[in-house]
Amino acid sequence: VTKILRIALPVPLRRLFDYLLPEVFDSARLIRGVRVRVPFQSRQLVGLLMEVADTSSIPLSKLKTVIEVLDETPLLPDDIMQLGTWAAEYYHYSAGEILLSAMPKALRQGKILDDQVIILANKKTEENLPILNPAQEQAVAHIIQHQTNFSSFLLDGVTGSGKTEVYLRIIDNIIKNNKQVLVMVPEISLTPQTIKRFRARFSEPIFAFHSSMTEKNRQHSWVAAASGTAAIIIGTRSAVFMPFKQLGLIIVDEEHDTSFKQQDRFRYHGRDLAVMRAHLNHIPILLGSATPSLESLLNVERKRYQYLSLPTRAGNALLPNFNLIDMRKTPAEAGLSLSLLASIREHIDAGNQVILFLNRRGFAPVLYCIHCAWMATCKRCAARMVYHQPHHLKCHHCDAHRSLPTSCESCNGSNLRALGLGTQRLENSLKEHFPSLSILRIDRDSTSKKNEMQKIFEQIHSGKPAILLGTQMLAKGHHFPHVTLVGMIDGDGGLFSADFRAIEQMGQLLLQVGGRAGRAEKPGTVMIQTHHPDHPLLQILLKEGYQAFARLLLIEREKFFLPPYVHFAIFRAEARSEKRANDFLEMIKANFTQNAVTILGPSAALLAKRKGLYCHQLLIKAEKRLQLQQFLKTIVQHIETKPLKFSVKWSLDIDPVVVL
Ligand code: ADP
Ligand code: ZN
Ligand code: ZN
Repeated sequence: VTKILRIALPVPLRRLFDYLLPEVFDSARLIRGVRVRVPFQSRQLVGLLMEVADTSSIPLSKLKTVIEVLDETPLLPDDIMQLGTWAAEYYHYSAGEILLSAMPKALRQGKILDDQVIILANKKTEENLPILNPAQEQAVAHIIQHQTNFSSFLLDGVTGSGKTEVYLRIIDNIIKNNKQVLVMVPEISLTPQTIKRFRARFSEPIFAFHSSMTEKNRQHSWVAAASGTAAIIIGTRSAVFMPFKQLGLIIVDEEHDTSFKQQDRFRYHGRDLAVMRAHLNHIPILLGSATPSLESLLNVERKRYQYLSLPTRAGNALLPNFNLIDMRKTPAEAGLSLSLLASIREHIDAGNQVILFLNRRGFAPVLYCIHCAWMATCKRCAARMVYHQPHHLKCHHCDAHRSLPTSCESCNGSNLRALGLGTQRLENSLKEHFPSLSILRIDRDSTSKKNEMQKIFEQIHSGKPAILLGTQMLAKGHHFPHVTLVGMIDGDGGLFSADFRAIEQMGQLLLQVGGRAGRAEKPGTVMIQTHHPDHPLLQILLKEGYQAFARLLLIEREKFFLPPYVHFAIFRAEARSEKRANDFLEMIKANFTQNAVTILGPSAALLAKRKGLYCHQLLIKAEKRLQLQQFLKTIVQHIETKPLKFSVKWSLDIDPVVVL
């Protein structure tokens, strides 16, 4: 019989492609996972052999022939093949694209790697380790005991409770047993200290893996992991697809962080795939956070995850005091209340550092004509353009920019005003209030140049009095021992958002930002500027803590049939005309129904137009994951096999973190 090779190709179609055996081949090489070169349309592509079959649904005379088999043995280990295949099914995405992007570029192009891993010797500098407190001791012992099997652990520890210390002790044990460890963090380039801290602790080789590394360095880490040279890989979400020779443990730090979810193309959740990977590898996984996601807390309640907690701050550090500033009653100037200003002065005068948090970069979010009410908007997006000093307008959705108009584009009037507050504007007014103090702004604009972040960190760690002012970049896992005051400029964002997750995220942010204060010997204070100091959820969060807050949110989610109690998917359509995007989704809604699945919409996305395309969406809900999956599969198969008369770009988002 004729053998058919089923190949995964790096193309968007969610299927395998059938080919005939090459003219010359070594049957010993026909192993699942080897790379092959095949003709595809008018090009040649490198793909992966997934199956050898006896039949094809396509007539043999129409099948093309594989040009060559490139490898003797598969380059991706079996667990990555399984994880990628599983993810392709779960997220309804092309297996070929997932698996090939798990390889360095050179391999994707059909080349071979001649990479000699250069081991940068670590200099272990830390000698006197702290004595673990009983809660840390227990967490470490528990996981070490369970290291030969799959289990998931949630390490719930307030900021500064010594979670990282727990990770380090467990890792030490795992690598002494000659196994490797994968540590996943939200955004590594922002936290160079994380890697530094690991390097100071171990003499074994540690490699990083994230998207802001050069392709060459990424490849280097990939080879180091695959060959077993790397003892520890510290990486962002994409590191979940790294090959390891002998993986012994996965740690996901700040597991609640939404940057583990990829928001375009392949919309996977790095944390969720990490749990799947641990399962496939029969190893433990440790999820850590001071503010665990509701998903993980429910998994604890349902006994899928084991719960470990570090209830107090490590060493002598105390949790900060939270204070609400009622903005309705306090005079304020350019977004800064007098009471916050007075506190800043007090802490600076005492020789300490202050963090101010404002999640809006640029000078002002709106440029407005006082004569005719015109506002500067992006030509390609349904969004306002943000005024950036000295004289730019930027769209934060598509990166379009133009120079600041000198007159109104509608009435030609010359009275344009910048409304609202961004980090640049706050920086300016702080400079007026504190002319001789160093004001360090940390946002995507101020840190876009190489080494800029590093310079800022050095100034922070010098310990000299300073105000650090920034966006959520500042909230992530940093350890700033000299900071004693944290001010939230806008504590209301999220309280009344239409997105059901906004309040959860706001609570997490408040505690994470607040957690930057008073992490060492100096006690910390957090001041939150709000127009709604009596908001019940805000009150519970600050008076009773995150656990009580999360419990209340879970009750609401269950009551209103929201995740994690039900499962969501979003079907998005983008098109040049609003009607086309909408009609496409109407067609889907009309043609596919299932009792167990509820479809809401179609409706315009919150950002109704992006990069010149109108975005509409269906929200699809089901109580059972399997039913949702099967339903979506039917739709996807239908759309992909029938030629479309709609010219739309469509995509699916499973377990979306943003639903608007
Ligand atoms: P987290 O990761 O929970 O924010 P870390 O592990 O970074 O906490 O610990 C916060 C600080 O406390 C660090 O400086 C760390 O060295 C210190 N620390 C951790 N555990 C202990 C301990 N048992 N005794 C004293 N200091 C500790
Ligand atoms: Zn005007
Ligand atoms: Zn735009």
